[in-house]
Amino acid sequence: MDFSLNDEQKMMIETVRRFITEECQPLEDEVEEKGFFDQLKAQALHRKAKALGLYGMNMPEALGGGGLSNLDRILCEEQFGHTTDILIRRAFGNVYEPLLHCQGAQVERWLKPAVEGTRTCAITITEPGAGSDAAGIKTHAQKNDQGWVLNGAKHFISDGEWSDFFLVSAKTGEKEISMFMVDKGLAGFTVGKDQKMMGLRGTPHLELFFDNVQLDEACLLGEAGQGFKLAMGALNVVRLAQVGARAVGKATHVCELMVNWASERKQFNTRIGDFQMVQQMIADSVIEINAARWMVYHAAWMLDQGMDAREQIAMVKVQASETLGRVVDRAVQVFGGMGFCKELPIERYYRDARIYRIYDGTSEIHRGVIAKSAMKKGAVLFDVNR
Ligand SMILES: Cc1cc2nc3c(=O)[nH]c(=O)nc-3n(C[C@H](O)[C@H](O)[C@H](O)COP(=O)(O)OP(=O)(O)OC[C@H]3O[C@@H](n4cnc5c(N)ncnc54)[C@H](O)[C@@H]3O)c2cc1C
Repeated sequence: MDFSLNDEQKMMIETVRRFITEECQPLEDEVEEKGFFDQLKAQALHRKAKALGLYGMNMPEALGGGGLSNLDRILCEEQFGHTTDILIRRAFGNVYEPLLHCQGAQVERWLKPAVEGTRTCAITITEPGAGSDAAGIKTHAQKNDQGWVLNGAKHFISDGEWSDFFLVSAKTGEKEISMFMVDKGLAGFTVGKDQKMMGLRGTPHLELFFDNVQLDEACLLGEAGQGFKLAMGALNVVRLAQVGARAVGKATHVCELMVNWASERKQFNTRIGDFQMVQQMIADSVIEINAARWMVYHAAWMLDQGMDAREQIAMVKVQASETLGRVVDRAVQVFGGMGFCKELPIERYYRDARIYRIYDGTSEIHRGVIAKSAMKKGAVLFDVNR
């Protein structure tokens, strides 16, 4: 068992950290204030990030991606947690793994442009009537001579405004779900309102409506009936990378600010960090962040070994997101009134953290998965054969 990072990994972390500190963090206040990210600034950020060779970092090098292992990707994602969602989306992209099922002409039409960053993609599973129950969707596609006719609606679709096409889950039979690549601008495809959120300012979350949208044959990703598997596979990695690792990064960032504040702020002629009750908040945060971090790394390592990490990732999703929630809550407390005041970003981190326990499977759903598995398998705490 080797817990060390090699020199290349350390250098990669340093490079990404510097990029986040120098290029992303200075843009945060403006995005927060305006509620959107300026298009020209987005293009400039994208160009600079591309020069690092980490755009589409999870995609094979042969396609122009970063070609990173799961663990290496997770190390970068952890650093991404140190800044705002929309800045990471524009800088490093979101190229979803199911796109690797593209074949023939699909490769040039959707996969390659997504990896190159010339076309942006969003994943659309959730509907007003189907969130946790992702198989309960009503959106459906009916086969016809020219391909498929898509009808239905989705909501909460992150990055929808910036996206050129969408991975859409749709019923193609009573119990069959398929995935389609749907280009923006097709007749009958309309984009609804941007659903304003408590946090993640700057990232649009859109409603989408499909009214008899004619899709050609090539729009079907993978095989008919494979859609649920593709969606769940994509979400599994998203949970680890964009939720687990980023939650650890965000919690680390907030904890660093909390420690600095506790070291400088004086009351009763004493640094507040010298009061034991404040120390407890710092200590608990440091312990929990480090525990969550190793869970994230371990799950990424399992994926790299070709192991089934679904259960581990469910545990990571709960542990990392709830750790972040506790850490930001303590940070507000340690900052006192300034933690609640908009003059400092602590209240923003508090708001931004709340969604981690909800999207990509709520804590309740993942606890259900973990408990069912524990009851089925028995030995869950430690098993040398795993
Ligand atoms: C900011 C944001 C961004 C998002 N981005 C995307 C996106 O890009 N693409 C996309 O497809 N979706 C996206 N979503 C949707 C997100 O994944 C869902 O909101 C999430 O899965 C929960 O579904 P729901 O909101 O319908 O809640 P519900 O499923 O209605 O759940 C409500 C409550 O009931 C509980 N509950 C439900 N079922 C069970 C159960 N079996 N056992 C115990 N408790 C249960 C839940 O845990 C929760 O507490 C986004 C949502 C938000 C808010």
